[in-house]
Amino acid sequence: MTQQVEELRVDPHNPRWQSVDGRLLDVDRLQVEFRTRDGVAKALNGVSFSLDEGETLAVLGESGSGKSVTAQAIMGIIDTPPGFITGGEIRYCGTDILKLSEDQRRRIRGPEISMIFQDALSALNPVYPVGWQIAEMFRKHRGLNKSDAMDGAAQLMERVQIPAARQRLKAFPHQFSGGMRQRIMIAMAIALDPAVLIADEPTTALDVTVQAQIMRLLKELQEERKMGLILITHDLGVVADVADKIAVMYAGRIVERADVFDLYGNPGHPYTQGLLESIPRLDQKGQQLAAIKGLPPNLTRIPAGCAFNPRCRYAQDICRADPPPELREIGHHRYSACHFAESVLSGEAVRTDA
Ligand code: SF4
Repeated sequence: MTQQVEELRVDPHNPRWQSVDGRLLDVDRLQVEFRTRDGVAKALNGVSFSLDEGETLAVLGESGSGKSVTAQAIMGIIDTPPGFITGGEIRYCGTDILKLSEDQRRRIRGPEISMIFQDALSALNPVYPVGWQIAEMFRKHRGLNKSDAMDGAAQLMERVQIPAARQRLKAFPHQFSGGMRQRIMIAMAIALDPAVLIADEPTTALDVTVQAQIMRLLKELQEERKMGLILITHDLGVVADVADKIAVMYAGRIVERADVFDLYGNPGHPYTQGLLESIPRLDQKGQQLAAIKGLPPNLTRIPAGCAFNPRCRYAQDICRADPPPELREIGHHRYSACHFAESVLSGEAVRTDA
């Protein structure tokens, strides 16, 4: 008899890791650098956050802020060299997975922590039918025969709402639209029922309607499976409805962490403020969008003091001389790494860029 996907979700030979009181992931002072010919790029400079069962954390920031490197470090897929994890811990269900062997890490990737990549076309193998690629997960990790694995693949394709899924098991990635390919990536990523799903810019190349559909699907799947979801994006607009909390990254650090409504309602860091102001709004038709001036820093030459100071509208001498302390509490579940966080929050910060 054909097994149902529900029955395939837990491997009897490889029991699931158990969260510690609901806590799945603790990333603690993580440091990553890339040793390049141009110098040492400090990609992550002490990143800390946590993720609980059923929780959605959005990690936000411009390109080069360290979002994807954080995801790669958790997945254990940083190319070494040139990338090196030089400090910190990544505790999954209480165990520092940075101390595990490559073989142990491989057994976590997929069944425990899984990832949806930005570009589905390059992440999927172009020479194999999509059904075969999903079925392979069941064959490899669950030891299913070909027919049961293909049936599992069809059920998953139906679950991620691929129309005529069974007839399209033998279709190749290039025969699907961008949105449908992303759904197939999602099917592959959840095939082994991971406890943590990392989605790295899952909707970047898609139009806004498809973006919304994919985000809704991810949220549904997360609630259905009680996964911890890490959504990596540069776009504050796409995560407002789905995230529980947000970590904003700049130059390899988290500069603000807060619950989603607090952060949207009243940001406590000038960089977050700038990101929010650059989102188009229906009530501001015809007005020019406010962009953050300048560019993110070259990570081999991060500015002294606060890394954001050359772009910050509130920068003062102290910002150019002293880095702000690590994230400090500025409210309930609210943390900011800015010398003037309280006055930014209260709207009393003095602009120095006029
Ligand atoms: Fe701006 Fe200074 Fe705060 Fe940095 S520490 S964000 S430069 S006000």
